Amino acid sequence: MTFAVDFENVSRHFDAVKAVDNVSLQIEEGEFFAMLGPSGSGKTTCLRLISGFDRPTSGHIKIFGETSDDLPPNRRAVNTVFQDYALFPHMNVRDNVAYGLMVKGEDKSTRLSKADEMLALVKLDAFGDRKPGQLSGGQRQRVALARALVNQPRVLLLDEPLGALDLKLREQMQEELKSLQKTLGITFVFVTHDQGEALSMADRVAVFNEGRIVQIGTPHEIYEAPRTRFVADFVGSSNVLPPELSARLGGSAKWSSLRPEAISITAPEHAKASGTVKSVRYLGSVNQITLQLDEHEISVSSPVGVALPVIGQTAGLVWKDAALHAMDDA
Ligand code: ADP
Ligand code: MG
Repeated sequence: MTFAVDFENVSRHFDAVKAVDNVSLQIEEGEFFAMLGPSGSGKTTCLRLISGFDRPTSGHIKIFGETSDDLPPNRRAVNTVFQDYALFPHMNVRDNVAYGLMVKGEDKSTRLSKADEMLALVKLDAFGDRKPGQLSGGQRQRVALARALVNQPRVLLLDEPLGALDLKLREQMQEELKSLQKTLGITFVFVTHDQGEALSMADRVAVFNEGRIVQIGTPHEIYEAPRTRFVADFVGSSNVLPPELSARLGGSAKWSSLRPEAISITAPEHAKASGTVKSVRYLGSVNQITLQLDEHEISVSSPVGVALPVIGQTAGLVWKDAALHAMDDA
């Protein structure tokens, strides 16, 4: 099978910094693929290696089966939407979008009509004559998208494209990007540090930590069956239980994950465990309750409306056996 993007043992080291450390990864054609990880985990470097703006220290990247080692960026079927949009401030929106076609030597009328087509696609038909400075953040984001798509890439790389937008607009753009990707049928490689964004948008997610992929799978697999403590904690802030506590609570003697929303508060006599209530935080949609079990803190997400335990008193905890998930690897 030919993959859209195929990393074979790829590393990119900057002196002692292993920005990307022996990554192997296959992205399928037409996939919405998310790279998720904290700041500094190597996500942007991976995109730069795919686009050809940077080269691996070792290993190879194939793009649609072709070894890309010697291909300059403009010979790759790939375009990038940059984190800061990188629009030209002195050019109007239409010329910004048409820029890549000018570089390719397309004639002016073709350029402008294709630019207008892309502006319509991102719902900015009426804004072609404006300068980027006369647009809102969300509109600038769409221009950046149109400017990348006008080149008809087979793979679109998006580097934290929604990071600068407020929550409401971000959620709206998440849906629009997802439906745009379906309409176009091209491969999206979407970089984010926001786990909710990755889980809600992607077909598959690669979780990065310190230049390595620690887990790769569907959003369900990543959330329900985290492989390591890092994944359990980074994706959804799970309770990470050391082996002895897991065993004591009826699980196996391995590092285990127990999601806060999988736990309910009950009377101590009906409980699998009990602890002292330390704090209750109201978060709008849920209450977050923290309990002390010996030397361990356990976090519980309790739906609003469910009776709250009293701080300082003992409360019981219950969960379904399957919710206590043992991980392969510490
Ligand atoms: P992310 O996008 O996940 O935040 P990056 O890929 O930008 O992470 O960076 C990964 C690591 O590589 C960081 O420690 C960063 O400081 C380092 N790095 C990235 N680019 C360079 C560079 N050009 N020179 C030196 N170090 C770099
Ligand atoms: Mg980055």
